[in-house]
Amino acid sequence: MENKIKEIVNCANQSYSKWRKQDIEHRITYLKALKNNLLANKEHYASLMTKDMNKPLIQAIGEVEKCGKLIDYYIDHGKEILKGRTIATEWSEVYVVNDPLGVILGVMPWNFPFWQVFRFAVPTLLAGNTVIVKHASNVPLSAEALENCFKVEGFEQVYFNVTIPGKEVNSLIESPYIKGVSLTGSEAAGSSVAKKAGELIKPVVLELGGSNAFIVCQDANLAKVIPVAVNARFQNTGQSCIAGKRFLVHNALKEQFIEQFQLEVSKLKRGDLFDKNTTIGLMAREDLAIELESIMKASISQGARLVFGGHREGSWFEPTLLAEVTPEMEAFRQETFGPLAVVVGFDTLEEAIQLSNDSRFGLGVSIFSEDVDLLRSRVSDFEDGAVFINEMVISDPRVPFGGNKFSGIGREMSEEGLLAFVNKKSVIIK
Ligand code: NDP
Repeated sequence: MENKIKEIVNCANQSYSKWRKQDIEHRITYLKALKNNLLANKEHYASLMTKDMNKPLIQAIGEVEKCGKLIDYYIDHGKEILKGRTIATEWSEVYVVNDPLGVILGVMPWNFPFWQVFRFAVPTLLAGNTVIVKHASNVPLSAEALENCFKVEGFEQVYFNVTIPGKEVNSLIESPYIKGVSLTGSEAAGSSVAKKAGELIKPVVLELGGSNAFIVCQDANLAKVIPVAVNARFQNTGQSCIAGKRFLVHNALKEQFIEQFQLEVSKLKRGDLFDKNTTIGLMAREDLAIELESIMKASISQGARLVFGGHREGSWFEPTLLAEVTPEMEAFRQETFGPLAVVVGFDTLEEAIQLSNDSRFGLGVSIFSEDVDLLRSRVSDFEDGAVFINEMVISDPRVPFGGNKFSGIGREMSEEGLLAFVNKKSVIIK
């Protein structure tokens, strides 16, 4: 490990010894200052994300605002969640306290450069840990801005950036001062980090890929479903782990769905990313667009029908729909991390559930039907971390977020996110 990185780890560890003793009320006060700083610079931060990874400015502004809501959630609920609990026994006193662990490493992706960092760092710091953040290499402006954003009163010495390539993360995990790791990114990166952390018995939270099914049942109201479906697939130019990627549509509605979906997609506006009317951007990097194109082409050669789109130029990938997709095809099997939707028909709910589960991923699923009671009765049949009924899969600070199968381990946000990196210490007094 480079000396500069060693110094950062030492510094984060030294600060931890003071930070962990800070009263929770103080930490909450600092969170308020953080939120003020964040929102005071909203447009500036948003513009840096746009420059870094081609996100339309209007969506980047929304991302900064969402970080503010996450801070609010922990300001309002953090103390209560962290307070621990008492247990009635024959001893005179038994209780559980939630102590911090130490320095926690966050390995962060590029698709939501602010949101992903906030949802890791805010609860982890509030619990009394200090954090070191390794941002994705392709979002350097956001990385620098985030470090400055966290430099508010109280937080000066608790949030640190490290600028290292992904392949050097494991040597950082080896540091005895690093007590846990949270990674959001690809399965390959997650697996590498989990292996190292496992070897050293350090806790990990992994938020990896997803290939969420978006199920439209026969009795669904298409007029309501279509705008949600288009948003679920194309927001953030399709570069979201929780995007609806496999549209499973009842055969009786399929042709209508395709027609209306195409019409709705035609309303997406391409243009200057800084123009607030632009709603679809370029992909973050050309190599990601090329990878998506190869999945599309392979699926077409396997028999999928290109309904619209299909054109790529540099990192611009035209919004695209493939129909007559089957589970053997690449676009069904792999995560399509960009503006490519696929439609698969089904005849029964049983079949839809089977198709939905026919994926190595298990992040979330959306199902649309007027018969909520029927869907409620089938929730446990889905192998996902979240089931959204008549709503697209979203992340919300109030609700635990995370995946099953190859989508990850552990949960972020809500109570689970705040308790992800704590020592739940049992205290027994005779
Ligand atoms: P990566 O997983 O490579 O990048 C995510 C983060 O992990 C970055 O900080 C990266 O650093 C780091 N990283 C990369 N390799 C390792 C490693 N071996 N050990 C530790 N950390 C590592 O994603 P890509 O940018 O290459 O995107 C590829 C695919 O990953 C996407 O197409 C998508 O499928 C998935 N992905 C999923 C995300 C999600 O939200 N779940 C977010 C981003 C990507 P560095 O940038 O320096 O390589």
